[in-house]
Amino acid sequence: MNAKIVLLPGDGIGPEVTAEAQRVLVAVAQKFGHEFAFESCPIGGNAIDDFGDPLPDATLKACQASDAVLLGAVGGPKWDDPNAKTRPEAGLLKIRKEMGLFANLRPVKAYDVLVDASPLKRNIVAGTDILFVRELTGGIYFGDSGLTKHDDGTETAFSTEVYSTHEIERVVRLAAEAAKGRSGHVTSVDKANVLEASRLWRRVAARVMKEEYPDLKYEVVLVDAMAMHLISKPTYYDVIVTNNIFGDILTDEGSMLPGSMGLLPSASIGSDGPGLYEPIHGSAPDIAGQGIANPLATILASAMMLRHSLKLEEEAAAIEAAVDQVLAAGLRTKDIADKGAEWLSTTAMGDEVLKALGS
Ligand code: NAD
Repeated sequence: MNAKIVLLPGDGIGPEVTAEAQRVLVAVAQKFGHEFAFESCPIGGNAIDDFGDPLPDATLKACQASDAVLLGAVGGPKWDDPNAKTRPEAGLLKIRKEMGLFANLRPVKAYDVLVDASPLKRNIVAGTDILFVRELTGGIYFGDSGLTKHDDGTETAFSTEVYSTHEIERVVRLAAEAAKGRSGHVTSVDKANVLEASRLWRRVAARVMKEEYPDLKYEVVLVDAMAMHLISKPTYYDVIVTNNIFGDILTDEGSMLPGSMGLLPSASIGSDGPGLYEPIHGSAPDIAGQGIANPLATILASAMMLRHSLKLEEEAAAIEAAVDQVLAAGLRTKDIADKGAEWLSTTAMGDEVLKALGS
């Protein structure tokens, strides 16, 4: 197939890790007979420096005209001034909105060889393989909010959780479709015992699952219970779908399970059009430019890109298998190496993934 991929390297270690993911994508294209055309565009702090805008129009247009977008990370101390006119993160929020990316997918997989780095005991976390599907453009972060100052000096503030049928339907469908290629088990998380918006979420999710996906196993869990289950029995879950705020919190809790952030990718997806793929870590300014960043999360994000945007399942699985193989062989970057053990540079780790791919 022919595909146009926009690379948004961003700031800090972003360019270092996206360069490795690009090498892997080039190798996959060669191996499986595809043509990937790459275009690199500015975003974040460097785009503020060069264009006065964290998401220049030309970058957005290129992304919208592409088949998929791979992002490194944005931000850093240079652009942290709270009084600045704009900030790198504004570019991220804008690109998600402009591209209509309503769902965030975050796989949380515990690699057996790294399980001892998890804060949980091996017998609890080993075998964990969860896909979180978080609604991204609705709910309390986007509902009505306000602040009233009272004469007595006190203040009252409110934020509103708002969801409509179609917003729930589309994200539940996306979760169910993803579950078909996995263990076929969808868990919807809500707070229907208290919140009206959660009661609608529960009704709509149940209808979509019953009418459209009767063959999948479907369960509902309250968010407070899920916060406990995630650390007491994470291996029980397959696909977890939830609203924006619960997803925000649960995915951060989930990201601790495998013991290394440098291995976790994420995808933001809309109904059609290109998706945006990225590692969950930030721009790591403390190690930028040293060639020691772990590129595996971004390489795994490129696998998600092949699976979800380009529908290249075999190619995605080949990248994931190559990463498994490298880790199983004991190869590590500094962030995941045992104290005093040898570790590889960013590019050396990229080389090993290429070798495991047979390139
Ligand atoms: P961070 O994820 O950048 O770094 C946290 C710690 O993890 C650091 O010690 C860093 O060295 C380490 N680390 C992160 N990724 C690594 C990798 N691939 N290999 C090895 N070590 C890695 O989080 P932070 O320090 O809170 O944020 C730094 C900057 O990144 C801030 O400006 C923040 O706003 C931004 N940020 C951007 C994104 C994004 O672009 N999506 C996400 C989170 C934070």
